[in-house]
Amino acid sequence: MAARKGVDSRTGMWELYVGSETSKRQAAHSAKVYSTAVKQFHASVPDSVSAAVKMNSGPEAGAFLSHDGQTVPMSDEHLRATLRHRQGDELPADGTGICNHKRANKAICGKLHGRDGGEHALNCKIGGVVEKRHNDVRDALRDWLGTVNVSCMTEQEMPKWHTAEEKARLDVVYTDARLGEVCVDVSLVNAVTEGGAKRCLKALERREKSKHVRYPGAGLFAFVLDVRGRWGREAHAFVQSVVGTMDPLKRADAIKDCRRRVSRALHLATAEQLMSAAASPPVMGDVRYGR
Ligand SMILES: [Zn+2]
Repeated sequence: MAARKGVDSRTGMWELYVGSETSKRQAAHSAKVYSTAVKQFHASVPDSVSAAVKMNSGPEAGAFLSHDGQTVPMSDEHLRATLRHRQGDELPADGTGICNHKRANKAICGKLHGRDGGEHALNCKIGGVVEKRHNDVRDALRDWLGTVNVSCMTEQEMPKWHTAEEKARLDVVYTDARLGEVCVDVSLVNAVTEGGAKRCLKALERREKSKHVRYPGAGLFAFVLDVRGRWGREAHAFVQSVVGTMDPLKRADAIKDCRRRVSRALHLATAEQLMSAAASPPVMGDVRYGR
């Protein structure tokens, strides 16, 4: 770092430098270089890879990698499976290529899914793992709302949206002084990446719209997220609506905390899905072949 005229070189040089116009200009140039590099990367890879990277991206998708110093850290095994899935590994949790998700009677799913990058494991409904993933994300939202002094209830029946075929049960419900009764419906999508990133984002949008068709009128936030971590627009809007009246100095931390909690819950659950599907089925005996 070159000494600048008028700056006392004995103390606080780095602090002055960080806050200087030179440094800000540097940051602006770096942002342009980064943005160009990202565009070049997406143009150089197949549409499906570009789409997968975009669904894995954004401050919300990778928030599980930040740690608050209090929560028990994600285990090495869960982190490994999560990262391998995010990197597009064909077999993110090793295993035999046969789904080992268990029914209540202990019978396994048994689907031969091969090296499908975790596709079957994340869609397989055997063993309640898909439901658990949804509930874990819902509970992460509920817990976060508690930290920002919003008292909510989960799994509430809403008679105004009951139909002849189905009762309406909303994931998170609370009363807000400005907005009235607020309902949040958590929904996960495993968007197909073959059609490119735009189609993936459309899939999130379509799910949001379908929720408003099912629950018409005001008072609903469709909190839609892709299994890789990307949120739909309404999920972001919901969080902004919660922090809107907070002290501006506390807003950024609250948003960051929400993203971290939701991302951690999602990625722990998806890692569980991948790992439990990949576990080897138990063998009946200790088989050995002697010479
Ligand atoms: Zn299965």
